[in-house]
Amino acid sequence: NPKIGFIGLGRMGRPMASNLQRKGFATLSYDVNPQGVAALVALGGRGAASIEEVARESDIVFTMLPAHPEVRSVVLDGIVPHARPGTLVVDMSTIDPLATDEVAAAVEAAGLGFVDAPVGRLATHADRGECLFMVGASAENFARVKPMLEAMGTTIHHCGPAGAGIRMKVVNNYLAIAACQLNAETLTLAARFGLDVERTIDILNGTTANNGHLKTNFPVKVLAGDIEPGFQIDLAHKDLGLALTSASAMKVPLAMGAAARECLQLARSRGFGGKDFSALLDAWCDLAGVAAPRLPSKS
Ligand code: NAD
Repeated sequence: NPKIGFIGLGRMGRPMASNLQRKGFATLSYDVNPQGVAALVALGGRGAASIEEVARESDIVFTMLPAHPEVRSVVLDGIVPHARPGTLVVDMSTIDPLATDEVAAAVEAAGLGFVDAPVGRLATHADRGECLFMVGASAENFARVKPMLEAMGTTIHHCGPAGAGIRMKVVNNYLAIAACQLNAETLTLAARFGLDVERTIDILNGTTANNGHLKTNFPVKVLAGDIEPGFQIDLAHKDLGLALTSASAMKVPLAMGAAARECLQLARSRGFGGKDFSALLDAWCDLAGVAAPRLPSKS
C-alpha cells in the first residue's frame, strides 16, 4: 500500500482518516489541534509533528481543512516545498474553485499530482465510511486514489479533470444550503400556526415539498434537540458564498441563495455559527419569537 498522509482531523477528517486506518491504509496524520492526532494514534496510526514531516514521508497526502486560506498555506507552504516528486495531493475540503485551480497549478508545477475530491453528504456518513466523493482528476490520478476513497465512502463520481470535483460540490451545496434555510422558515411558520411538527414533516415529505433536510437531517439533528455539528453554519455560510462569488463572476443571478446567505449571517450574528446548519431552525424561531419545535423523543 502507498504511504498515506492526512492533514486536518476535524469533524470530517477524523472519521475519514480513521476509516482509512481501520481498513489497512497506515496513516501519518497532522492537525494543529493535537486531539485529532491522538484519536488516530489510538487506532494504530502514526502522528506527525509537522506538515513537513507528512510531506516528506507520504506517497499520497489527503487534506480536509476548513477553507481556502488553510488549504493554500498547508499545501503551498507546507507540502509543495517538502514532498517527493510524484507525490499525489488530494484536497477534500470545500473551497473556492479558483483557489483549487491556483493550488493545482502550483502542485503540478512542482512535479506533484493534484486531485480535488470534495465530499457530499453529512458528517454521520463520514463516521460510517459512507461519503460521496465528487472527484476532479486525470484518469491516472483517479485510479491511484480510488482505493482510498472507497475506504472512506460508498459513492465515487469522477466529474472530469482537476477542478471539476470542486465545481460540482459548489453546485451541490448551493441547493443543499439554500434549501436548509427555506426549511427553517417553513417549520417556523408551522410552529407559529401551532401545527404538530411530526405531522407537518410527515405531510411535507409526502408531497412535492419533500426534500432531504426534512427526511434525513432535521429529524436527527435540530428536531431531536442536537445542534452540535454535523456541518457548521459558519462552513455553510462559506459554501453559499463560494456559489454566489462564482455566479457573480459569470453574471449568473442567484436570488434565493443571496437571501439565504444573509439568513445564515443573521444566525451567525446571534451566536449560532458553530452549530449544525439545521440549527437555522432555532435561529429563525428565535428571530420570529416562536418556540423552536422538537420531535417527541424516540426512547
Ligand atoms: P472542522 O472545523 O471540524 O475541521 C477542520 C480541521 O482542520 C480542524 O481539526 C482544524 O484544527 C484543522 N486545521 C485548521 N487549520 C489547520 C492547519 N493550518 N494545519 C493543520 N490542521 C488545520 O471542519 P469539518 O466539518 O471537518 O469540515 C472540513 C471541510 O469539509 C470544510 O471545507 C467543510 O466545508 C467540508 N465539509 C464538511 C461537511 C460536514 O458535514 N461537516 C460535509 C462535507 C464537506
